[in-house]
Amino acid sequence: MSVCLLCDQTLESSIGWQDLIGIKKTINLCNDCSKQFERADIIEEGETIDKITSLYTYNEAMREFLHQYKFLQDIALAHVFAHDLKSVLNEKEVIIVPIPMHPAKKIERTFAHVDELLKAANIPFIHLLEKVSTEVMGEKSKEERLAMKPLFKIKPGIELNNQHYILIDDIYTTGTTLNQAAALLKEAGAKKVEAVTLIRAETMNQ
Ligand SMILES: [Zn+2]
Repeated sequence: MSVCLLCDQTLESSIGWQDLIGIKKTINLCNDCSKQFERADIIEEGETIDKITSLYTYNEAMREFLHQYKFLQDIALAHVFAHDLKSVLNEKEVIIVPIPMHPAKKIERTFAHVDELLKAANIPFIHLLEKVSTEVMGEKSKEERLAMKPLFKIKPGIELNNQHYILIDDIYTTGTTLNQAAALLKEAGAKKVEAVTLIRAETMNQ
């Protein structure tokens, strides 16, 4: 018997032909919880990034989800959106690059939340960037963000080729993080850089 990852309500299960041939989508949420999230599929252009696709809006349910996942470190929640991510990241010829966490932050949070979203969805990825700053974008004004030192560098020994890269982050707010990361990949030789984020938020303080 499986239960909803968010409310522990028992999920109805029936064994059908999809189970037998292994194509059935794994259901991790009950209907009550899943209808609280607002799927939006917002597509935007960035400054240096070619395209940013965000799957969900930042509503109350999503705010609670992020809190439980990132701050209360409930790693099982990495599976909640696994099917959604898998369905938009199904191209074969792209290289998936998570936005990295600063090593000190990873120790504090116990796991890299973006990596875990991809692992839960069985999406292969490679780390090409290293976070060199622990500053948090959402707490800064535009002037402060522009005056900042670089957030990332390309990992030592990494060579990029003329390929198509997709950056992954949990939330797209100001775009500073994604545009900086895209600029680095392009300078290093990437042909095309897009991003997919789970959430689109105007600000983190709404
Ligand atoms: Zn539920």
